[in-house]
Amino acid sequence: MIQRNQTTIKNSLPPVVTHLEGDDYSVYSPRSGNTYTARVEADGTTAICDCPARARCWHLGFVEQAHERRTLQSGDRVLANEARGPVWHTVLSATAKRVYTREQPAGFAWAFVLRCERATRRREAA
Ligand SMILES: [Zn+2]
Repeated sequence: MIQRNQTTIKNSLPPVVTHLEGDDYSVYSPRSGNTYTARVEADGTTAICDCPARARCWHLGFVEQAHERRTLQSGDRVLANEARGPVWHTVLSATAKRVYTREQPAGFAWAFVLRCERATRRREAA
């Protein structure tokens, strides 16, 4: 019973993404215990992973999110989870721990960021 619960917990843990250099990341999968390498393509939106999955693997969403957060720039927007609900903020700057925005210059922890939106992508869409 305890072992089954531990397996359930292990299978529900998200992959751990670590930045290597440039657009390369390592992805540790708690499910398999394996570490893979993923690279974000030049357009900065999609990643490729060297795990055995033939279709789009579930590592990629985590890598793309980590890349988006790491390369966030002034003028991009983040959707932050606040007490009154999710609110969009315009980014001033960001560190590994906090995001500073025009609306909240004191900043908030990354844990509250639900989504990032690039200023460049907004301009393309407009
Ligand atoms: Zn993968």
